[in-house]
Amino acid sequence: MGFLKQNSKNVKIRKQGKYFCIPVIKRLKFMDFKNNFARPIIVLSACLDSEPVRYNGEILHNDLVQQLKKFVDFIKVCPEVSIGLGVPRDPIRIYMSDDVFRIFQTKTNLDLTEKMQEFSARFLDDLKEVDGFILKGKSPSCGYSGTKIYRDKNARDIIKIGTGLFAQIVKEKFPYKPVEDELRLKNVGIRHNFLTKVFAFAECGNLEKKISSISQLVDFHARHKYLLMLYNQGKMAKLGKIVANYKKGSLEKTMRDYAGIFYTAFERNPGIKKQINVIQHIYGYFSNRLNPAEKRHFLSLLKKYQQEKIHLGTLLELMKSFVFRFDVKYLLSQKYFNPYPEELQIKNPREKNLP
Ligand code: SF4
Repeated sequence: MGFLKQNSKNVKIRKQGKYFCIPVIKRLKFMDFKNNFARPIIVLSACLDSEPVRYNGEILHNDLVQQLKKFVDFIKVCPEVSIGLGVPRDPIRIYMSDDVFRIFQTKTNLDLTEKMQEFSARFLDDLKEVDGFILKGKSPSCGYSGTKIYRDKNARDIIKIGTGLFAQIVKEKFPYKPVEDELRLKNVGIRHNFLTKVFAFAECGNLEKKISSISQLVDFHARHKYLLMLYNQGKMAKLGKIVANYKKGSLEKTMRDYAGIFYTAFERNPGIKKQINVIQHIYGYFSNRLNPAEKRHFLSLLKKYQQEKIHLGTLLELMKSFVFRFDVKYLLSQKYFNPYPEELQIKNPREKNLP
């Protein structure tokens, strides 16, 4: 069985007992973080900064959606308008009956469950490409979080706070795609993970469409190494083996196998422990070249990060300055440092929402 080795100069693929070196670094565009992002395709609840489709005809202003317009392509959808409800309209609610979620318009006595299920399945099945979803929180249809689930179609009491019907079907059909709502995306950590995933998925999707040589996949894997290590070290190793075991003539299959695992690697958001593991790996590249005072400073910041006293970005900026200073080109190409366009980063995250 072959395997993949990489260092700052090349990636080696072992085939039939021999190594074949692929000079990754020369072909990567360093210092080109800003213009080097694929455009993700995101399904958006249409009432968020886009269309006057709410029950009261309102459009909800949303800063993140505004910022994203420059970098992503939105597919806008309003499930309630799509099932024939007008604007303005009487509000609907979601309730539970015999462990089944149903939606109901109290004023008109209309049960809209089947209509919503049919529309959602059709709309989602027709999506050719999608990298993520931004839905409207609290809505009986779109709400990914914060939706009031009533005990009955006419009851006043709420049995739990959960997910709207359209959002539930999204999660069933796309279990590995990032799904968030505008309320959760106010949290800096959630927003960071969401943006990281949608931009990584878009790049992988682009590569799937246009790949013409194994070296493109080798580049991709090399640039995503520390991001993959952060989210799922086991899957990072599996993906490395897929690349290393490439056999001539099997490019499409290799890419398909790779993408199938890549998309599942981001299922769980990493915590501080995993961040520290990656940081320590990266620190190994330049630790010998730091003077004692620099080392002490770096390690004290690492400790503060571990104790949640500073934001991850503070550490990353310091690491980047070492990477530039020692010209560690392999690290400059890492998506871990720049997973999405800089303009989308929050400059002064509040302490409680540290990623
Ligand atoms: S939350 Fe969803 S269903 Fe409600 S108005 Fe917005 S897009 Fe339409």
